[in-house]
Amino acid sequence: MGKDIVGYVVQKELCQKKTISCPRCDSNLVVKNGFIHNGNQDFKCKQCNRQFVLNPKNKPIAQETKELIDKLLSLVLLLNY
Ligand SMILES: [Zn+2]
Repeated sequence: MGKDIVGYVVQKELCQKKTISCPRCDSNLVVKNGFIHNGNQDFKCKQCNRQFVLNPKNKPIAQETKELIDKLLSLVLLLNY
């Protein structure tokens, strides 16, 4: 459950700052496709059916977002492990 909250918050942050586009065809016809094993949001492109996960290493995110994620992850670790 904790991971879902983190994923939700991250997703919300990302959606507020920019639209998500497909890494293959650059289409914005992208839908959520559940979560992968590490809790990251999985996406699927309706244009080319490519499945992908947003990679923060390749796409710079705001420092405040990073700090928020760090805080949430710490909380999750405290609660679940
Ligand atoms: Zn695509």
